[in-house]
Amino acid sequence: MAVRFKRVLLKLSGEALMGDKQFGISPEMIEKYAKEVKSIVDEGVQVAIVIGGGNIFRGLQASSIGIERVQGDQMGMLATVINGMALQGALEKLNIKTRLMSAISIQQVCEPYIKRRAVRHLEKGRVVIFGAGLGSPYFTTDTAAALRANEIEADVLLKGTSVDGVYSADPRKDPHATKFETISFSEVIQKELTIMDQTSFTLCKENNLPIIVFNIKQDGNILRILKGENVGTLVN
Ligand code: UDP
Repeated sequence: MAVRFKRVLLKLSGEALMGDKQFGISPEMIEKYAKEVKSIVDEGVQVAIVIGGGNIFRGLQASSIGIERVQGDQMGMLATVINGMALQGALEKLNIKTRLMSAISIQQVCEPYIKRRAVRHLEKGRVVIFGAGLGSPYFTTDTAAALRANEIEADVLLKGTSVDGVYSADPRKDPHATKFETISFSEVIQKELTIMDQTSFTLCKENNLPIIVFNIKQDGNILRILKGENVGTLVN
């Protein structure tokens, strides 16, 4: 069966890389995500990835250790590059061609982010990992995902999380919470649901970029989405 999207942007949170650990990168998780990515690359899908850094450092932690916010955010952005390198290594072990592009120049380690170049890599079938968020403090990697997805004209933003989709309430706290199969951007606002931070959500809404929120921890979900199955919640 044909796949329903030609080009996707996958957002992976840093926390998803921790697995059962409290910090850092779990080798099992990174290998697992690399295999998930491979499953759709093998179907000819062009894949760009934005990876978070929360498993290593978040800017908001900075003040607790006496570091100012901007410096803390820069540390967080560098953390996303470390995660990107780990994912790149895991993908290359599976013989997938990749490029890591950073919003902060780290020439010896990866390429600078240049939109046209990123698109060219995708057209050639390389998986492009965007590191260092947007290169600016006070943003999140969700915002980087929304912006980059728009820039490269991705068909959809696939937001991998640890829950099965968007619920009417937090399913971990409320047993009556129900999951939406689809929901519109305006309903999300009206029902005061939080999918991602407001900056990233607005970027998707204003540019009509659909988001699929899904459980990344369940094997095979990304491929199921591409095959047209109703996995997670479609926000459009
Ligand atoms: N960050 C930033 N600008 C960006 C993206 C990220 O300053 O454009 C910093 C910010 O400090 C953030 C950290 O990088 O806390 C890690 O990113 P994020 O918290 O979004 O990662 P995730 O929650 O997905 O693991």
